[in-house]
Amino acid sequence: MGLYYDEPLELVGASGARVTDSRGRTYLDFFGGILVTMVGHDLPAVREAVTEQLARGVVHTSTLYLLRSQVELAEKIARLSRIPDAKVFFTTSGTEANEAALLLAMSHRRSNQVLALRNSYHGRSFATVGVTGNRSWSASSFSPLQTTYLQGGYRFRSSFRGLDDDAYVAACVADLRELLDVAVTGDVACLIAEPVQGVGGFAVPPPRLLAAYKEVLDETGTLFVSDEVQTAWGRTGRSFFGIEASGVVPDVLTFAKGLGAGFPIGGVVARADVMDGLQAKGISTFGGNPVATAAANAVLDHVLDHDLQGNADRLGRLLLSGLRSASADLAMVGEVRGVGLMVGVELVGPDGYAPDPAAAAAVLEATKARGLLVGGGGLHGNVLRVAPPLTLTEAEAQEGLALLVDALREVDAARP
Ligand code: PLP
Repeated sequence: MGLYYDEPLELVGASGARVTDSRGRTYLDFFGGILVTMVGHDLPAVREAVTEQLARGVVHTSTLYLLRSQVELAEKIARLSRIPDAKVFFTTSGTEANEAALLLAMSHRRSNQVLALRNSYHGRSFATVGVTGNRSWSASSFSPLQTTYLQGGYRFRSSFRGLDDDAYVAACVADLRELLDVAVTGDVACLIAEPVQGVGGFAVPPPRLLAAYKEVLDETGTLFVSDEVQTAWGRTGRSFFGIEASGVVPDVLTFAKGLGAGFPIGGVVARADVMDGLQAKGISTFGGNPVATAAANAVLDHVLDHDLQGNADRLGRLLLSGLRSASADLAMVGEVRGVGLMVGVELVGPDGYAPDPAAAAAVLEATKARGLLVGGGGLHGNVLRVAPPLTLTEAEAQEGLALLVDALREVDAARP
């Protein structure tokens, strides 16, 4: 069953920025399997690294023994994270990475109180649904955590809508302080936040908001967990990890998705005192397994050697400005926002504000019919998400932009 389309899409092949379905139709991939495809599909360097590892007989999995590719990868990520004295623990998914981060923070602070942002998404497990501030994905009422949700993720649909950046940051910080004073008892373990909300519809907070939050949290030693499952590896264009643009060095950082180019890998980076504070032993059978780490090393080297962050910045600006100017006369578009190759188009009803998920569903069909894949998302399912591979060329960016604008125009014109 497919989530987006009337008729499920079965993919059978892929190369670069294009995928092919079981009927032989080719699509320009502007969603990259939910931001998993950073370096383009079927990159030879990744295939070679994986094949070489398989030829060695795979070797043992688990974090029990030392594996060269695992150690190399951990060292690179620790250095890139800028977290002083950092340690890395590998998992097989973003959900598990956030589970591990929450466990570390709660253990370090001896508290089950957690702060999260409204409209957030952090995973599908027992603990991570408990910090997911989006009712279509979460089940907070069953959570073992005590979570308090803050403003600050998604301005367009909040009571702070319309405030300029300075006023918005001030209002959010006042909201945090008030919550800490009245709604939270005792120590708080951490704030978990996505630097740019992904599933929530590519909502971008003013960078200094996260810095302002960090200052308040530092007053009590509350940890800042940056969920970089979508925003890592240069995707936001402006920095390598999304949080860097705020000038914040987080205490804990989680990653997954694009690192493995489809091979399952995630992980958590944390200050050594936080990582070592966990009394229980840490082991993961498949976390950081030899095949996934071989792929991940090849991906990371490719991202760094080819300045894909710079490419994301340049082409992200092109897509953002192209979509903004084309949307000026489309009543259906309420906001075009984003950073780097995370561009969101929020669709609204005739009143100019009510979410219009039916329009988003129609645009998804219209883009598919034109040979373009984009994503859906947002709290109400009314946001189109554009997140192509970071290896996108300018010609591909222009091609996808033209197809998307054409689809938007068709659906807008058909509305009563
Ligand atoms: N955190 C964020 C920000 C995500 O976007 C996702 C997945 O979309 C997750 C965590 C969960 O990752 P996974 O699906 O690998 O478990």
